[in-house]
Amino acid sequence: MDKFGKRFEGKVAIVTASTQGIGFGIAERLGLEGASVVISSRKQKNVDEAVENLRSKGIEALGLVCHVSNALHRKNLIDKTIQRYGRIDVIVSNAAANPSVEPILNTKESVLDKLWEINVKASILLLQDAAPHLQKGSSVIFISSIAGFNPPPAMSMYGVTKTALFGLTKAIAAEMAPNTRVNCIAPGFVPTNFASFITSNKEMRKALEEKTLLNRLGEVGDMAAAAAFLASDDAAYITGETLVVAGGQPSRL
Ligand code: NAP
Repeated sequence: MDKFGKRFEGKVAIVTASTQGIGFGIAERLGLEGASVVISSRKQKNVDEAVENLRSKGIEALGLVCHVSNALHRKNLIDKTIQRYGRIDVIVSNAAANPSVEPILNTKESVLDKLWEINVKASILLLQDAAPHLQKGSSVIFISSIAGFNPPPAMSMYGVTKTALFGLTKAIAAEMAPNTRVNCIAPGFVPTNFASFITSNKEMRKALEEKTLLNRLGEVGDMAAAAAFLASDDAAYITGETLVVAGGQPSRL
């Protein structure tokens, strides 16, 4: 018996920033549940390797280069998906940057712009391109962060852009209802490349584990399972919500 169900047979899912880490894990899970998945990131080599990896598991996958802040790349991502599969059922907007560990009041304008552009604006612009193609019953998921609830000092402006995604989820859910559901996931810390500057430090890792009730960091599979739930018909009556997947770490604004 397959470990997972087949909730996405005949469906097409786009996941941005998906050649490794949480994005890859989500694409893999949706693919194992039957979706055709469109993966992308900035580097062709990473795209090729990730597509090969997915196909080796029997997943139907298309890989494209897409730097999310590049308008032509975003348009190409949508156009090529429609050319190949003729529909879009799921979009997971997963890309983010965290270029600074400075306090907000010391952060350069160019860095503030980059954070806003990649972490928030690119998600909106991608949805503007995708919206005309979204099927009835489709689903959008933004990947925010536990850092959006109470931005920690070393990632405070990054945290604020993740807070913005909570509001964006509510606003876009209202705009896209009733045909498209829009939800958000706030992951706790997961030891990917993105978080390695924190999670690879033994003491910091232990402190993070102790902040959770479950006494462990998150795994990519935890986030993939949550995304698959929200994207599926099992969540057919859920929209405009943020699902915190952080082992019980406090999560209040
Ligand atoms: P990751 O393992 O470092 O993977 C990042 C992926 O994004 C790679 O495939 C990378 O490939 C791609 N990428 C980076 N910048 C991009 C851009 N501008 N446009 C398109 N693709 C881009 O990161 P992750 O930890 O999975 O993080 C994914 C999401 O989870 C982010 O939104 C992050 O804020 C969120 N999150 C992570 C954690 C955590 O602890 N890991 C916690 C909370 C939230 P290329 O290098 O080829 O572009």
